[in-house]
Amino acid sequence: MWGRIDEGFYLVGENFEIRVSRNPISLDLNLIQTHGARVVIYKGQREDIGDGALTDRVGVVLGVKTADCFPIFLISKFAVGVLHAGWRGSIRGIALEGLMAMYENFGVKPEEITVIFGPGICGKCYEVGEEVAELFGKFAIPKGNGKYLLDLYGYNRRIFESYGVKLIVPPPACTYEDPFLFSHRRGDKGRLYNTVKMKGYASDIL
Ligand SMILES: [Zn+2]
Repeated sequence: MWGRIDEGFYLVGENFEIRVSRNPISLDLNLIQTHGARVVIYKGQREDIGDGALTDRVGVVLGVKTADCFPIFLISKFAVGVLHAGWRGSIRGIALEGLMAMYENFGVKPEEITVIFGPGICGKCYEVGEEVAELFGKFAIPKGNGKYLLDLYGYNRRIFESYGVKLIVPPPACTYEDPFLFSHRRGDKGRLYNTVKMKGYASDIL
């Protein structure tokens, strides 16, 4: 379902348009990301502090910036949004915060949400130390050299599934493996723009 374009990836549905780009994309809300789990609702503010944003306003573009962390898009008929999930935000509960904010603000239940993972660092590439690994249980596999491989996608995917999300689209690529994408671990200073635009209200999601 993900398509590749010159500057990154795109995925378009009836009422939304997702873009992942190496080039800056103009956003309605500038999110000051803190690796936390605060999800904000867009009400016309130009700037806010948080690691996720949701909207039900047609024409609004929301986004997060990443380089190895996962952008996670939440899509429904009546509201859309995007989360920024690195290991800290994941442990702090950004996935569940996103689901709760969709329900509390827009009445959208997890089973009515399609979760779409953008590109991030995969479980074969993401090496972490023991102090991080022990937070993730079975999603951190020992490498044998005192280091672990962390499957951040699998960890977050399980949370969405356990709260009732049925449709989950996996990441289109690993940022560490794909030299075209920005990777913090590989030493890149650039950031990917991961944006979602609400195009209207849909009869079907995809
Ligand atoms: Zn990888």
